[in-house]
Amino acid sequence: MRKFLAALVLTSVLVLPFPALNAQRKTPKATKAAPVSVASQRGADEITAAQLKNYLYFIASDEMEGRDTPSRGLDTTAKFLAMNLSRWGLKPAGDESTYFQRIALRRDLVDKMQTRVQLSGQTLTLGDDYIPLPRAGDVSGQLVFAGNGWLIKSKNIDAYKGVDPKGKIAVIFSSPDELPRGASRGDIAGKRGEDWMTPAEYAQKQGAVGIVQIPDFQYLANWDRNRQRLTERGMTLVEKFQTQAGPQPPAIVAAPKLANALFQGERQNATSIFEAAFGGSEMPGPFALSPEKQMTITVVNKTDPVSTQNVVAIFEGSDPVLKDEYVALGAHYDHIGIGIPVNGDAIYNGADDDGSGTTALLSIAEALSKAPIRPKRSVLFVWHAGEEKGLWGSRYFTDNPTIPLDHIVTQINIDMIGRSRKEGDTNSRNRELSGPNEIYVIGSRMMSTELGDLSEAVNKGYLNLSFNYRYDDPNDPNRFFFRSDHFNYARKGIPIIFFFDGEHEDYHRPGDSPDKIDYQKMEKVVRTVYMTLWEIANRPTRPRVDKQLPPQLIN
Ligand SMILES: [Zn+2]
Repeated sequence: MRKFLAALVLTSVLVLPFPALNAQRKTPKATKAAPVSVASQRGADEITAAQLKNYLYFIASDEMEGRDTPSRGLDTTAKFLAMNLSRWGLKPAGDESTYFQRIALRRDLVDKMQTRVQLSGQTLTLGDDYIPLPRAGDVSGQLVFAGNGWLIKSKNIDAYKGVDPKGKIAVIFSSPDELPRGASRGDIAGKRGEDWMTPAEYAQKQGAVGIVQIPDFQYLANWDRNRQRLTERGMTLVEKFQTQAGPQPPAIVAAPKLANALFQGERQNATSIFEAAFGGSEMPGPFALSPEKQMTITVVNKTDPVSTQNVVAIFEGSDPVLKDEYVALGAHYDHIGIGIPVNGDAIYNGADDDGSGTTALLSIAEALSKAPIRPKRSVLFVWHAGEEKGLWGSRYFTDNPTIPLDHIVTQINIDMIGRSRKEGDTNSRNRELSGPNEIYVIGSRMMSTELGDLSEAVNKGYLNLSFNYRYDDPNDPNRFFFRSDHFNYARKGIPIIFFFDGEHEDYHRPGDSPDKIDYQKMEKVVRTVYMTLWEIANRPTRPRVDKQLPPQLIN
């Protein structure tokens, strides 16, 4: 599951989670006996807690180093998946009869020798005065103070109200990982680019040629780490996605010394604006800085080609005609790698996120291959890379599919299904975590009533988990519908179901480790997904799409 703010802001900086709201909808208690014979004949019994635990302890081990995209740990995980798929006889469906669909990436790194920033003719020191983002450009101009940089119409936040930043460099006080003070998730509503824009998007739209960002305390406290990340590790991008967004203005993050120099002699000094932006006082409106202050930003990049891959396989259906149609199963096998240590642990194992989905797909592939009978339609497995970077793998696959996309009758996405809220848990960070017999279900009725009914009926007639639908709304302030890979299938018109356990105390932290997984719950959820996919794969007709998503949601 992708972080909320990371999904909005393009700087790829780690973000803090937000607490969510409270409300519940429960399904009635079990009354019907499960059709055990059908389930075991179809192979559902092959999926066991012990098997899931085995796989997940490998996939989420420290040796995989948090499976960043791209990384050796991610590549090793891909090989582990492919090795097993091959043993079980699944058909490779990546590039050139392999299990891998290669994704060409580009790593942009600042060329420190050629990058230069000047303020009123004085050359500033890279690293001490500023940290450049690896966005190449050579610009100069006067400066304009533009508040927090955001446009959020629902909150009357408009950073450029009354000033024209065209051809100028915008100075914004904004935390790269948080919404501006006074705005919350629910305020990010309506159409992106019209009703709301991130600081980088809004600056570009307003014609600003460059950005100087004044960061918050947290960024300043990690200044050295941030400098290292941006100037030594750089920023990785998908080569094929680059032409679409257009070049963004070059940007630097200013140290306090530079911030003070910028606001010297102005109507407000840097300290008072800083306090307004990140403390409690009132934020002054935008204004142009003294025209004597001229800034030149020259960022030169070095670029390295790198790559990653989706892992793609097919389990072929039994029906000579229907086997050309697919039920697609997806999970992301990447996570966020190695980061800021918590209690001495710097490896973000991603056992739940999304080691659990990765493992679920693997166990489903195994169960299908060992079942006495096979479903009529084929099953397409895609383990996506780069989900945490911005749903890269699913976007890449749906833009460059290795099978015809309109042959996919449904996509089921599994992202985080391994954690459960224990009775008596008072940790507020686990407040929205689903219980041992419960799972959040999102999207099953958004495009196909028939699919939603089918998913309900399978569950009711089998293990009767409590399906919680409280996030099943694209307008939910958590925006979960937009934050995992199913979204890219939905926007191509494919009906989806998304299974999710809810945010918890270890979400995007090093503590998301395999020992904290509820394997009994996982077994139940994976078996339920398995029976659901079997049902979809075996029906005479594909789930009918009877509604489309509102276009403003998917653009
Ligand atoms: Zn995640």
